Amino acid sequence: MKAVVIKKHGGPEVINVEDVENPIPQSSEVIVKLHSAALNHLDIWVRNGRGSQDFMKPHILGSDGSGVIVEKGENANGLEIGDEVVINPGLSCGKCEFCLKGQQSECVSFAIIGLVCSGTFAEKIAVPITNVQPKPAHLSFDEAAALPLSYQTAWRMLMTRAELKPSDTILIHGIGGGVALACLQFAKLFGAQVIVTSSSDEKLEKAKTLGADSMINYKKVPDVAAEVLKLTSNRGVDIIVDSIGAATMDINLSAARKGGKIVICGITSGAMAQVNLQKVYWNQLTILGSTMGSMEDFRQMLKAVTNAKLKPVIDSIHPLENAKQAMLKMERAEQFGKIVLNIKSNSK
Ligand SMILES: [Zn+2]
Repeated sequence: MKAVVIKKHGGPEVINVEDVENPIPQSSEVIVKLHSAALNHLDIWVRNGRGSQDFMKPHILGSDGSGVIVEKGENANGLEIGDEVVINPGLSCGKCEFCLKGQQSECVSFAIIGLVCSGTFAEKIAVPITNVQPKPAHLSFDEAAALPLSYQTAWRMLMTRAELKPSDTILIHGIGGGVALACLQFAKLFGAQVIVTSSSDEKLEKAKTLGADSMINYKKVPDVAAEVLKLTSNRGVDIIVDSIGAATMDINLSAARKGGKIVICGITSGAMAQVNLQKVYWNQLTILGSTMGSMEDFRQMLKAVTNAKLKPVIDSIHPLENAKQAMLKMERAEQFGKIVLNIKSNSK
């Protein structure tokens, strides 16, 4: 089968599309014939080797995928051959105290498809049957592939970690990325007020059409936190969702209301930030970390998307062969929404 593989860590030049062995299912696994896959920043990290994972080479990239079950291991019970599914990329042991509590992303051996094992940028993948869920019927395969990582991350950040209420005002940094847009869509679904930031007026205008209430171009505004305070009558926002990291942490500490929550799921601008602890205690702030989601987060996210007939925001769709160009687009932060790979399967 065809797959997007790397044989060593490095820049975009290490990506190749080539023929690899078809996967064989373990007893509790299914083989999904992938129709679509979607890109995440994680793919760049894996390629660059920042996680320094010791994978079997060649390594197939990709965490998000949708497709059809074409084969089952003897103990893979539940869904059937022919079922259309989306893949939950979170891997957990199923046995530790956190898994037994239903908090799979807190599992002692939590891992991600495409990070520690073969990923979704391929014509087929073997995954545990517990990692597939029925594809929402109103979505195409391309749309469904855009959901798993970003939309479950957003769901857990807002609903499980920050406990979003319809009366909340939230601040979303860097609108255009998958998690940020998913947060915007879910927050508006709940009726919350949303302030978004970007360096691009074009992205801010697009966010407005998705329901953003206020837009801040951080390149044109000298003090983003002061602008947020102005927009909230000097009160500050209830919740801040942040995947930017170092560059936005100080803004967060000044833009959150007293008793507000800052939820962090990424560090695209860097991991090390200076934190003014006086602001943390005096303003009684809660700083929350959030990673992917539990199986229940994933199920709730899919149910909410289905009930609301919500469609994920898709930037562009590329053939599998153009994975390198698609990844370059994401690295230049040019996208507004998910970048999807459409996989034309020729494999038997
Ligand atoms: Zn576990």
